[in-house]
Amino acid sequence: MRRISVFGSTGSIGVNTLDLVGRMPAQVVALTGGRNVTLLAEQARRHRAELAVTAHPECYAALRDALSGSGIAVAAGPEALLEAAERPADWVMSAIVGAAGLAPGFRALAQGRTLALANKESLVTAGPLLMAEARRHGATILPVDSEHSAIFQALRGEDMAQVERVIITASGGPFRGWSAERLAHVTAAEAVAHPNWAMGQRISIDSASMFNKALEVIETREFFGVDPARIEVLVHPQSIVHALVGFADGGLMAHLGPADMRHAIGFALHWPDRGHVPVERLDLARLSQLSFEAPDEARFPALRLARAVMAAGGLAGAAFNAAKEIALDHFIAGRIAFPAMAEVVEEVLARPSVAQGFTTAADSLDSVLAMDHLARRQAAEVIASRH
Ligand code: NAD
Ligand code: MG
Repeated sequence: MRRISVFGSTGSIGVNTLDLVGRMPAQVVALTGGRNVTLLAEQARRHRAELAVTAHPECYAALRDALSGSGIAVAAGPEALLEAAERPADWVMSAIVGAAGLAPGFRALAQGRTLALANKESLVTAGPLLMAEARRHGATILPVDSEHSAIFQALRGEDMAQVERVIITASGGPFRGWSAERLAHVTAAEAVAHPNWAMGQRISIDSASMFNKALEVIETREFFGVDPARIEVLVHPQSIVHALVGFADGGLMAHLGPADMRHAIGFALHWPDRGHVPVERLDLARLSQLSFEAPDEARFPALRLARAVMAAGGLAGAAFNAAKEIALDHFIAGRIAFPAMAEVVEEVLARPSVAQGFTTAADSLDSVLAMDHLARRQAAEVIASRH
């Protein structure tokens, strides 16, 4: 029986993962969540997990009480997350949101397992480190982001030397085509309303600002080793084509599928085989039309910033992600406007103390986390100085 752990099981990706895991024979090892202790305990009982971990020590008692008499082990705090990542398992889902997902995923790789990686922040902040750690331990990383799963599938059996370009699509989010004036007044509630995908709050807002696509461009570079000049972004409002790979002979392999993350999760779950996944089957005749347009980098500067981050290299990805996470916190709290998120990130990247770190390689967890902390402090300062 396959042993499976899910980090971030109470989130959008986590819930979809358990939906699929519940349909196959599996021993669930560890499930982890944040403050949603009721859901975490319910998942742990339903899937007969060995261990349930909340990231927050102050939630320990509530989780322990909710699982009393179940025989399921309970733990709390960041150290406990790392210990959970050391429990032997064959397949581990990394679906914590943000840079907080890096260390547990990294620790799981040391066990030489399959890591299904939804946490794109791991690759953005520490791509070279993560890929090297997987190689060192003979572990496999499988992409779970829909675009990256699509690229991975289009590349099966292909020669990377013949790849001319990789195109990832973006829906354009709820504000596609909006003027700069209108964007200045949007609220978090409006930004979270994604037209096609049901996702966690943070990635939904990142989709509206195109920061999600910016992270994904960097993720593409880090995971597939594609030169940044060969990575393109195409706005595709229907979210049916997830990515395309262009080859030396002019052919494009496109991946199409419904906007349901269970496809990409299921692909990673069944890999290297294909298995049945209960997503809606596309009726292309009913869809009738797929459209594409170029992204507007003037109104959505995140993509331009991602290009600068890739050109800078080193710890720039860690700084970019951390500054974005803080700017997003402040937008959600209503303290800065929607377009200010990109302005704050750009200012943080230009700060000398931060930019100095770009020459340092992202080759140790300590250096990545030090840059993460520095960029968070700088972002908070930049935001404070705007008021
Ligand atoms: P979510 O907010 O719905 O869930 C996040 C999970 O992480 C929850 O279980 C939460 O309890 C846990 N968590 C939050 N902060 C934590 C912390 N500091 N320490 C430990 N655990 C913490 O997020 P999501 O939408 O499921 O996204 C998860 C990851 O997958 C993100 O990296 C996101 O970019 C990526 N992703 C999501 C989707 C999607 O459709 N939701 C698609 C592609 C990629
Ligand atoms: Mg995606």
